[in-house]
Amino acid sequence: MNMKKGDMTNGFRLLEITEIEELNSNGLMFVHEKTGAQLLYVQNEDDNKVFSIAFRTPPPDSTGVPHIMEHSVLCGSRKFPVREPFVELAKGSLNTFLNAMTYPDKTVYPIASRNDKDFVNLMDVYLDAVFHPNIYDQPETLMQEGWHYELENIDKPLTYKGVVYNEMKGAFSSPEQILFRKIQESLYPDTPYANESGGDPDYIPHLTQEDFLAFHKKYYHPSNSYIYLYGNGEIEEHLKFINDEYLNGFDKAEIDSDINKQAPFAEMRRQEVEYSISPQDNPEGKTYLSLNFAVGSSTDPFQYLAFDILQYLLLDNPAAPLKKALLEAGIGKDVFGSYGSYMLQPSFSIVVKDANEDDEKPFIALVEKTLKELVAKGIDKKLVEASINYREFKLRESDFGGNPKGLIYGLRCLDSWLYGGDPTIHLRFENTIEQVKKALSQPLFEELIEKYLLNNTHSSLVVVKPKPGLSEEKDQEIDEMLQAYKAQLSDKDIQEIISNTQQLLKKQSELDSPENLAKIPMVELSDIETEAEKLPLIEQEVAGVKLLYHPIETNGIAYLNLWFNSSSVPFELIPYASLLTTLLGKMSTKDHHYEDLSNEIDIHTGGIQYNLQALALNGEDGEFLPKLVVSSKALVDKIPKLIELLEEIINGTIFQDARRLKEIVQETRSRMEMIINQAGNQVAMSRLSS
Ligand SMILES: [Zn+2]
Repeated sequence: MNMKKGDMTNGFRLLEITEIEELNSNGLMFVHEKTGAQLLYVQNEDDNKVFSIAFRTPPPDSTGVPHIMEHSVLCGSRKFPVREPFVELAKGSLNTFLNAMTYPDKTVYPIASRNDKDFVNLMDVYLDAVFHPNIYDQPETLMQEGWHYELENIDKPLTYKGVVYNEMKGAFSSPEQILFRKIQESLYPDTPYANESGGDPDYIPHLTQEDFLAFHKKYYHPSNSYIYLYGNGEIEEHLKFINDEYLNGFDKAEIDSDINKQAPFAEMRRQEVEYSISPQDNPEGKTYLSLNFAVGSSTDPFQYLAFDILQYLLLDNPAAPLKKALLEAGIGKDVFGSYGSYMLQPSFSIVVKDANEDDEKPFIALVEKTLKELVAKGIDKKLVEASINYREFKLRESDFGGNPKGLIYGLRCLDSWLYGGDPTIHLRFENTIEQVKKALSQPLFEELIEKYLLNNTHSSLVVVKPKPGLSEEKDQEIDEMLQAYKAQLSDKDIQEIISNTQQLLKKQSELDSPENLAKIPMVELSDIETEAEKLPLIEQEVAGVKLLYHPIETNGIAYLNLWFNSSSVPFELIPYASLLTTLLGKMSTKDHHYEDLSNEIDIHTGGIQYNLQALALNGEDGEFLPKLVVSSKALVDKIPKLIELLEEIINGTIFQDARRLKEIVQETRSRMEMIINQAGNQVAMSRLSS
């Protein structure tokens, strides 16, 4: 595309072209003149194209209206009047990403695909969903996705039902979710962040159909939208499509979706909240304590990166001094940090899990003492170097697991864009990382600690305490309230609830008509490449060991995986093989104390991971190959150092340090508990498949 600043194309004016060297991309910033919609196109050679549309949606209360809206717009729209376009679409799509997410202040609808036709199809369904959902003449949508009174017949008890209502009851049973919810509320009480965008089950039933529709009308408008395109697509065609099919039908509107700043506090605030454990459980040692700070601004690229590194340095890596001090003092059994950069005013938290209630004062005192010592004596420069390197490697590698690169970049853009900042500022990290590297010779992190953690009164202490039987108590309270409500209803009102319930059930069991289903665009065989993508593979043998080598472009990074046959491990010892993978790299070796080892790994490599895998053989149920896999990566010129470290860890780890062993086991147990609390369904699935 040959456009220069100021040019118009298909209703869009090009405002700015920014070179993003770090991504081998150009950032083209457009504004849609008729509506004021902003559009960022990150142009490059990546064929894994991404489209997303986001709206700034500060929650007006805790009814969860942003989250319920996210679900509801995907329940049929003008062009695609089926019950679940999303589900139908997925059946005939080659998407590499398809989802929608509600954040504390925005709602994002991203899709990705490597297939051109599929990409446009997905874009069409999503744009139609957000701008023309069928919610206005389908009152069942709020009932189904949000909440409703359910009463099958007059003798049954009245209950609340609804997808988001149930989802959030689940979410609110996790102590970590309660903690992070409270942290946000405690630091920003006079802003939209004090409200729960996902919905607090106590407030969800306050949402009315009128407020629900008004929310869509107000915020789901092009003038309040942030559109993002990424990859090697036909930009002019895409702009034309977005303009002709959607934006052109709207006019500019004044939409107040601004988020106000929280005024700083004069002193730290304290908040306490309870979470439910089962009635038989002992509440001893199950308290969460967290110290939280409002730190700077998300549109400042230096702070954005520096606090992220500081979190790793202080709390998350095996040599982290604050974590170590807390664990050694026996305050909690697990310690972690959290840096929330997806808000106008980011937050920095120090969390201990499985503490005792009376650890509160020692916790505050020890955090303060440790931070003061770090500032006075200076942080170990090797730890500083390791922490910066760890982050820098990740930034340059940009490997986001199963997620398309363009998706994560787009979300990163919103971290500044949504607050009026330069959308690409966090993508252009080269200068910022240079700035952060000054910490190698100057007390840069020490200054951040002093200013934002030690001398910052815009802070809070949040205590999350266990209470046996709390959820049973609450359920009973809600049930009593509902039955009391039912008792004072007239026969006519009761009949209406019964008929609404039946109508909803009937609607839910109706099948989409074949004509409507046919409106969902599908990729056809002719749209698909028939040649499979070939991964180059060379087989060799080195010292009697088979070596598989893939010569492909990896941006100067070497990936080295070692596969050990673990079929000799007896069945009853398999859990210990799993424990072994957790201990490797975290315990001292013959040559390095574990803290020093962790720094060595971060300075010289991009990380080393250990896990167990069982590979199915020949498609047979009972046949499989158990493996212990070591996956590692480093810049190509660091391969010798990487191999040296691998050798040291695999052959030279000392497992006799009982105290360290216990720390790691405690942490592992705590993290597993979190997974079970937050994703019980995944645990069940993995049990089933095993
Ligand atoms: Zn949801």
